[in-house]
Amino acid sequence: MTDLQTDLRNVIIIGSGPAGYTAAVYAARASLQPLVFEGSVTAGGALMNTTEVENFPGFRDGIMGPALMDEMRAQAERFGAELVADDVVEVDLSGEVKVVKTSTDTYTARSVILATGSGYRKLGLPHEEELSGRGVSWCATCDGFFFREQHIAVVGGGDSAIEEATFLTRFGSKVSLIHRRDELRASKIMQERAFADPKLDIVWNSEVAAINGTDRLESVTLRDTVTGETRNLDATGLFIAIGHDPRSELLTGQVDLDDNGYVLVQHPSTHTNLPGVFACGDLVDHHYRQAITAAGTGCAAALDAERYIAALD
Ligand code: FAD
Repeated sequence: MTDLQTDLRNVIIIGSGPAGYTAAVYAARASLQPLVFEGSVTAGGALMNTTEVENFPGFRDGIMGPALMDEMRAQAERFGAELVADDVVEVDLSGEVKVVKTSTDTYTARSVILATGSGYRKLGLPHEEELSGRGVSWCATCDGFFFREQHIAVVGGGDSAIEEATFLTRFGSKVSLIHRRDELRASKIMQERAFADPKLDIVWNSEVAAINGTDRLESVTLRDTVTGETRNLDATGLFIAIGHDPRSELLTGQVDLDDNGYVLVQHPSTHTNLPGVFACGDLVDHHYRQAITAAGTGCAAALDAERYIAALD
């Protein structure tokens, strides 16, 4: 049994990335006194794991990811958002009063904004985390520009890996697409595009066995999946494009999800199938997956929640 917090909140926001904090700024400025669950370990979201962010408008010289998230957090607090560094472990969103539980307390609210983001799949190799933002990346749109005239490796074989690799040929001197098998999973049209690209080299039957470097990525070790032989690839950029998973375990059986677990919303709004429950950011969007688009839908979710509550009053 967890302790029941007696006050009925206007809005509970679950998640503390650009979507959650932006929703918090808007809800707080609308005098809704939002309660934000930030998560116990990953408060600030995906950008806490990166270095320079050069494409968030308003920072002409760029800004470090954690600094950007600190600013968003402080801005939400300044307008009265209440921030709780804890994980939501259970929700019941079906009734008019929404129930949100942490491991110790139970909270209730008239509306809930879901902003738990998504996680990029990792290779699970040593140095992968430390070198994130220092040569290792999951986002070509975000980081491709940093790798001008460098040798870039991309891991994966699906459409998004080919898309990332093709995009990266604009920047890199050479792009090596590392693929485990001797054929790609990607659609035919994407494959044709890849084969026709003179800067793109497909390294078949290979997987990344080691990520090498101390302060920055220096090279990757490849293992031949047929012979087991290893060799060094002198790439200074490594883009991991093996998929991503929405953080929607909590929501299974609660709100409608698509086949990949992303929350379905009634575009262009952020309404889910449940009245008073709104969703935003990468939890919904598997297409753009940018800080600014997450912030944009976070704003929309707060405006949708505000209108929903106004209609109840
Ligand atoms: P997230 O940022 O993922 O935040 C969600 C957060 O919710 C979680 O981190 C956690 O704190 C919290 N949470 C999750 N579950 C729970 C729970 N049960 N209870 C409480 N809290 C919970 N985009 C750009 O535009 N520019 C860039 O340069 C850029 N660089 C990137 C570099 C890296 C390494 C990565 C991984 C991503 C990068 N992105 C970049 C993408 C960008 O970070 C995401 O698109 C954006 O952060 C998504 O925001 P979000 O709020 O939807 O989710």
